[in-house]
Amino acid sequence: MGKKKKIPSINPYLSTPTRKRDRPDIQELFKGIKAGNWQHLSRAITLVESRSAQDNVSAKELIKLCLPLSGKSFRMGITGSPGVGKSTFIEALGVQLIEAGHKVAVLAIDPSSSINKGSILGDKTRMDRLSSHPHSFVRPSPAGDSLGGVARTTRESIILCEAAGYDRIIIETVGVGQSEIAVHSMTDFFLLLLLPGGGDELQGIKRGIMEMADLILINKADGEREAIAKKSKRMVQNALHILPPEDKIWTPPVETISALKQKNLDVVMAIIRKYQQLATKEGLLEDKRKQQSAFWLEESINYQLKNFFFQNPKIKERYKTLKSDVLSNKITPFEAADELFRTFVN
Ligand code: GDP
Repeated sequence: MGKKKKIPSINPYLSTPTRKRDRPDIQELFKGIKAGNWQHLSRAITLVESRSAQDNVSAKELIKLCLPLSGKSFRMGITGSPGVGKSTFIEALGVQLIEAGHKVAVLAIDPSSSINKGSILGDKTRMDRLSSHPHSFVRPSPAGDSLGGVARTTRESIILCEAAGYDRIIIETVGVGQSEIAVHSMTDFFLLLLLPGGGDELQGIKRGIMEMADLILINKADGEREAIAKKSKRMVQNALHILPPEDKIWTPPVETISALKQKNLDVVMAIIRKYQQLATKEGLLEDKRKQQSAFWLEESINYQLKNFFFQNPKIKERYKTLKSDVLSNKITPFEAADELFRTFVN
């Protein structure tokens, strides 16, 4: 590419690449977050989600300030196929939690928004009642391009919400791709929503997700579907018996609910409370969070190492050639990887 000719500017200061005035005042943002100001919290999350290098520096500074104030919430992950009733359920549960005296933050990971701007979540009016409540904060987040990316921004958003005084954090994810693995690895309690249905419905659920769940709810158990929901409940219970339980002290319950008609929500609240008490008493929550921190430490090292490796100009060049050699069976993938690694180290 040829060098661009510099166009002379009438005002020489306009071409100065400093954009200091755009840089948010971190102390000011922190003060706002501590005071529970949702506009400040919202701006802070935007900063964390930004890809600009300058914003990244500001975000890091802010997270450092917020970190000592974080960790005190109960974090719940909620997953299920599109249309199963996640937002209806979260709204109903959120309102109950607020009525019980909590402050609720909902972070909804939107898997479609990184691909096109018209996202699944953005198209519907979601959680109106909860969004407008002064004790709640609802925020859709773009899923980003990679698991590492979602994980970092969501984990940092949790820290910000906790620093702002939200003591119940709900992370919603559509059961697409790997986002539920990421969400499971950053929450204390993982909830799976299913629709009443026959065996086909169950088979559509990835086995791994059932294994991750701390509670399974068959939603839309109202009207004609109530009887089918009860049958589904027994089927899921049977399926769960075959799976090894994730924790020895907790067997994931299966319940039927109607998020729309607000049926059995008190049962759900009681189960969550019971889990919280038991897990706190047995040290399970602390262990889980330690394991999660270790997991994310390793994940982010992997992520950064991989980026660092592939951004190396020599690797970029060799990779193309070696990949085509691997594809045409001239060399094995292992030999190619060895050679690339030697190039990198040297
Ligand atoms: P999401 O895509 O999983 O967030 O699902 P939504 O919460 O947007 O719900 C999808 C549709 O199912 C909406 O039309 C809801 O009104 C409806 N719905 C949600 N929960 C229930 C329920 O418990 N019973 C019935 N009958 N409909 C429900």
